[in-house]
Amino acid sequence: MMNLQISSFDDYESAYNHSVSDPESFWAEIAQNFQWRKPWKKTLEWDFTTGTTKWFAGGKMNITENALDRHLATRGDQPAIIWESNDPQEESITLTYKMLHQRVCQFANVLKKHGAKKGDRICIYMPMIPELAIAVLACARIGAIHSVVFGGFSSQSIADRINDAQCNIVITSDGSFRGNKEIGLKSTVDDALIQCPSVQKVIVSTRTRTPVSMLKGRDVWWENEVKTVSSDCPAEEMDAEDMLFILYTSGSTGKPKGVVHTCGGYMVYTTYTFANVFQYQPGQVHFCTADIGWITGHSYIVYGPLCYGATSLMFEGVPTYPDAGRFWDVIDKHKVDILYTAPTAIRSLMGFGLDYVNDKDLSSLKVLGSVGEPINEEAWHWYNDHIGKGKSPIVDTWWQTETGGILISPIAGITKTKPSYATLPLPGVQPILVDEKGEEIVGNGVSGNLCIKFPWPGIIRTTYGDHERCIQTYFSTYKNLYFTGDGCMRDEDGYYRITGRVDDVINVSGHRIGTAEVENAINMHLGVVESAVVGYPHDIKGQGIYAYVICEKSTGHDSDLTRRDILATVTRVIGPIAKPDKIQFVSGLPKTRSGKIMRRILRKVAEGDTSNLGDTSTLLDPSVVDEIREGAL
Ligand code: ATP
Ligand code: MG
Repeated sequence: MMNLQISSFDDYESAYNHSVSDPESFWAEIAQNFQWRKPWKKTLEWDFTTGTTKWFAGGKMNITENALDRHLATRGDQPAIIWESNDPQEESITLTYKMLHQRVCQFANVLKKHGAKKGDRICIYMPMIPELAIAVLACARIGAIHSVVFGGFSSQSIADRINDAQCNIVITSDGSFRGNKEIGLKSTVDDALIQCPSVQKVIVSTRTRTPVSMLKGRDVWWENEVKTVSSDCPAEEMDAEDMLFILYTSGSTGKPKGVVHTCGGYMVYTTYTFANVFQYQPGQVHFCTADIGWITGHSYIVYGPLCYGATSLMFEGVPTYPDAGRFWDVIDKHKVDILYTAPTAIRSLMGFGLDYVNDKDLSSLKVLGSVGEPINEEAWHWYNDHIGKGKSPIVDTWWQTETGGILISPIAGITKTKPSYATLPLPGVQPILVDEKGEEIVGNGVSGNLCIKFPWPGIIRTTYGDHERCIQTYFSTYKNLYFTGDGCMRDEDGYYRITGRVDDVINVSGHRIGTAEVENAINMHLGVVESAVVGYPHDIKGQGIYAYVICEKSTGHDSDLTRRDILATVTRVIGPIAKPDKIQFVSGLPKTRSGKIMRRILRKVAEGDTSNLGDTSTLLDPSVVDEIREGAL
């Protein structure tokens, strides 16, 4: 096993201090734990004014040698991936490190056979089946740059992403199973490809065996192709700073950005954070419920766990199929040690009540994780009490597609947690809070815009094909700082709490109020399922608070009375200053396919400007927008 785990709070503090006083020697020491074909020449070069960062440049390696080959001698027969089907009756699949290595090499040869080479961009649009992880790793094996597009996206979204990156190969499946639905994937790809002249080949794996059209000369079956090649495929030698992948952000704040990560720094950072945040121990089963189509899946289903020699559980289905107890069944069945999921999932499962939880054996759980958005206190407590039974630390991990891995988070069992706080920066991460002018806000008990003042190995390298956009978005708002776009509070203990996007901070009569804070309070009200809060122009206060609230269907509430009760709850929890000026009851909220609320739409509606709602292509269910628009106050 590698030697990079922190084992006590003192250890954390000394690692942190080392990482700040001498970041290069700190990360060079960590990087020694990996397999390099040639040592790097320079540990770090950086210049935030031009948005450039290079870690371990000149170092030669391949991330799959670290994720696979290196483990063969020591843990070749240990499960690398355990796959659980959408259908609980279908047998699960275990791929040991040996088997995964063999299948990755074989598929890498298929890619080569079809002309793929180092530097090519390959689009992957697949269900959560083992072939998806294999496809990702096979690209990395031969130095092709993967661009995974989440399997729920429309043909237009696929076409946009393929064209942005000029992909020449697409890897897909006939279809996917999600809950009781069967969804065509190949047909969606076919529709996309009408607009994508760069694509030469489509490789199709079978999952649903839905009839699909297969074009001669362009489309081939995965199953047939793997029979024609050997399973011996030496890894391509990559520079640490060669591109590993492109991944588009979720698009909750605007047009998705093609975030680029490179091989060396990303490998070191995801592995280091995986090992530390979750305190993974040999033999444990790590269950990250994200889709590999998101950064969380890239970093904490595939690369981080595999580079650390862990067992990673991959789940094809949804949390509510066949019923709302499915996650708990999976945990029980596979004796999961670490569960890493999102607040949106927790909130939705909470709504189904405890009957689905109480008859499951969750005693194998040791660590719980949360990611994707601020976790409200109510959800935090439910997760803690009913899933962790009060004995599993919750790591509320704050990070972004652009950061490659977790930046601010407790270290499980080591950092004292606090509901709704991401707590402390990991070693190597130097957060700073600034005001609108970019002046540093010092001390504790303060709020501001969250920036990072020094590069860590997993930082974004560019936005694909448009470095200017990278500079504009992340490095030009505040001089010499990486700007996260998130608002943040640092409490008296120096603990960090993410309050939402900076443009979600509302200024009511000169008081800065985070939308997440108000939502937190509203969600504490009996019968409230979920809420979303935005600001709107207000003559007297500058900004007013507009709340969209979903109530339990069963309550049959008198909306006027409920409105007043909610105001009373907010007043009690935060104070009268945070009372919403308007409350609109809705049956759903506009969410991206990764489960995030697209607040900019809600903001537009609250402002009374519904003419141009911007890019809504990443919305899960566009029809909720009409309802919200019609019910606007
Ligand atoms: P886009 O950048 O296209 O709008 P996105 O920001 O939603 O999309 P991601 O990179 O997946 O896409 O999400 C990162 C954001 O998610 C963070 O900037 C933050 O706002 C939020 N977030 C993630 N984890 C947490 C967390 N633990 N606590 C609070 N917020 C979180
Ligand atoms: Mg973002």
